[in-house]
Amino acid sequence: MKIRSALATILAFGLLTAVVSAPATAQEKFTLRLAETWGPNFPIFGDATKNMAAMAEEMSNGRLKIRIDSANKHKAPLGVFDMVKAGQYDIGHSASYYWKGKVPNTLFFTSMPFGMTADEQYAWFYHGDGMELMQEVYEPHNMLSFPGGNTGVQMGGWFRKEINSLEDLEGVKMRIPGFAGEVFSEVGVSPTNIAPGELYTALERGTIDAVEWVGPALDLRLGFQQIADYYYTGWHEPATELQFLVNQKTWDKLPADLQAILRTAMKTAAYDMMIHSVHENSKAWASIREEHPNVQIKNFPEDVLTAVAEANDKLLAEAAEEDAQAKRIIESQAKYLKNARNYTDISLRAYLNTMAELNE
Ligand code: CA
Repeated sequence: MKIRSALATILAFGLLTAVVSAPATAQEKFTLRLAETWGPNFPIFGDATKNMAAMAEEMSNGRLKIRIDSANKHKAPLGVFDMVKAGQYDIGHSASYYWKGKVPNTLFFTSMPFGMTADEQYAWFYHGDGMELMQEVYEPHNMLSFPGGNTGVQMGGWFRKEINSLEDLEGVKMRIPGFAGEVFSEVGVSPTNIAPGELYTALERGTIDAVEWVGPALDLRLGFQQIADYYYTGWHEPATELQFLVNQKTWDKLPADLQAILRTAMKTAAYDMMIHSVHENSKAWASIREEHPNVQIKNFPEDVLTAVAEANDKLLAEAAEEDAQAKRIIESQAKYLKNARNYTDISLRAYLNTMAELNE
């Protein structure tokens, strides 16, 4: 009893000293509002925001609280950019390439066809020019943008008919958004964007012939394995990085320690989403293999990939010609990719090749 009360006194005194000696601003509490593009309890992506908020609150000892509104609440899944820019929300969780219609150069900060893998791209963001270039694009819109979690290599999509050559792609109606959709349209595909909730029915009824979504974990939930046999490997989104957007005024009013906590929480949540994706995709792929033996993994034939790679180069060259900032971003990514890939080739690729040979 005595010991306990002595301990309580010491603790209370310690706390009191901390309260008295800390500067007044450091005690201020903040509740920030976050709007996410995803619906409530959206797996993996939604877990990243919840993780981030929980870490920020815990690390700040409750001084930084983040309240999350999912799409059902704010009703504007693709309005996150505008809402954070206007200060209606302090933080957003979404994907940079969704804003290419508003600000074309936001396109480059999610994933590019034939671009970097997740680890190469994180290296570009945090140790290369990535963060600086991204900030340059977002600054005029009074926002900061941070990597917000990576899906890893996305699958190339579900097809109801096998693609054996470039001709087989002619007129194929496919849900594939973003730059990859533009690239695919150069080789005869008719890209469309359809809301996730309608994708299964669209594929089942033949409104579309093919659909790319993310990877096994998120695709399994939408049920494509029940109606399509051919699951293609990806070329179009090798490292899809989500995004945390922060309103500049919100950021500026936070004391330096809470800025550091928020930055750390976002970075850690992003990394955790990448490994969470590996975990969930491995589980989901095992279950598809077991329960849907109809599903066959296919690589696109060589003539398709060659044509798509050429179309990609052409569109990038056009984008670089039209805009000086786009040119700098494209060149920075190309240069970084080349250098990083030389190393990936002698490390990760060499290791995987060795393993594959051993297991043959
Ligand atoms: Ca996708």
